[in-house]
Amino acid sequence: MSEVSIITIGNEILSGRTLDTNADYIGQRLTEMGHSVRFRYTVGDNVRDIAFALKQALKSDVIITTGGLGPTKDDVTKQTIADVHGRKLILTNPIGTAPGIFVEEGKKLIFILPGVPREMKSIFENEVVPVLKKKLASYPLITVTFHTTGIPESQIQQLISEIEDIAFLPHYTGVDLRISRKTRKEIEEFRKFLKHRLGDAVYSEDSDTLEAVVGRLLKNKHLTIGVAESLTGGLVMHRISNVSGSSEYFLGGVVAYSNELKMTLLGVKEETLKRYGAVSKETAQEMVVGIKDVTGADIGISTTGIAGPTGGTRGKPVGLVYTTVSGESGIRCEKNLFNGDRLMIKEMSAQKALNMVRIYLLS
Ligand code: ATP
Repeated sequence: MSEVSIITIGNEILSGRTLDTNADYIGQRLTEMGHSVRFRYTVGDNVRDIAFALKQALKSDVIITTGGLGPTKDDVTKQTIADVHGRKLILTNPIGTAPGIFVEEGKKLIFILPGVPREMKSIFENEVVPVLKKKLASYPLITVTFHTTGIPESQIQQLISEIEDIAFLPHYTGVDLRISRKTRKEIEEFRKFLKHRLGDAVYSEDSDTLEAVVGRLLKNKHLTIGVAESLTGGLVMHRISNVSGSSEYFLGGVVAYSNELKMTLLGVKEETLKRYGAVSKETAQEMVVGIKDVTGADIGISTTGIAGPTGGTRGKPVGLVYTTVSGESGIRCEKNLFNGDRLMIKEMSAQKALNMVRIYLLS
């Protein structure tokens, strides 16, 4: 397996003004191609630092740099590469007509690519990939990302502690798990293992979304869904309707933010609101009953909670959310206390609502 170092050049990357998406892209693509990315360096646009990174990186079989090529920079990178090699600029072999440079130095391959992501990607795919395929033995790996939700990262770590070559990619709505294997059979074995250890916490793979999974379940069971949202402000409906073909099962819903609308549109009782408050199990349950009546859907969902940052009290803190699902097998209500800013709490609540429907339909 060939070892690669990536060097991204630019003061704006060091200062954090520009996100280093080039290194991410190159790293992902090389890993997919079966190469091992050993080091990433980020340096400013100056000879000394570029030279420093290059000298370190020369331990690798392949070096890929991006940025620092522009005419404004007086070809600092090109000059530095020449200097590091102790030669004058004999860096010929330009890659096609593109403004990149390919240097073959003994067994080492050095690619100097532009910084602008669109140009970098085009040269990488059209010029660098073919050279790497021709010159290096690689062991292409199949990479799959498994999506989980509703289970903390620490718990997943415990449950699959014997697996070392796995990447944990936590988001606040769930944890993604990425693995690479040589064969489809090994991927399938891992899939079974994960299912055995994590059960229904794994909801999909790669680009498949939770709302798409929920959509398929509804479609397969010939069920329709209606939504009553308070704190999520329409986010649940937005996600459900993001799925092409959702009109087959998504009837519609109501964003009832005010108490008034909770009563007039969803039939929540004034007494319930007075006695238990808008953020309560009782209100969430009346909302779901209301939305099923209004829409005639087989499955109803409701969300009510406190997104913050204001509005929390001791008894009902920011992040307190009630989510309810109702269908043929009765009403299920969950109480959660989410941690995060306003948008995060809304997104976690929408995720919870969709996941509750999924689990409801699975059981
Ligand atoms: P130019 O000829 O315009 O000087 P260049 O190839 O030398 O181009 P840079 O000047 O280093 O590249 O970067 C050009 C722009 O590309 C930057 O302003 C930035 O927006 C983007 N860019 C550079 N490096 C990266 C990177 N590692 N990740 C994402 N974007 C980048």
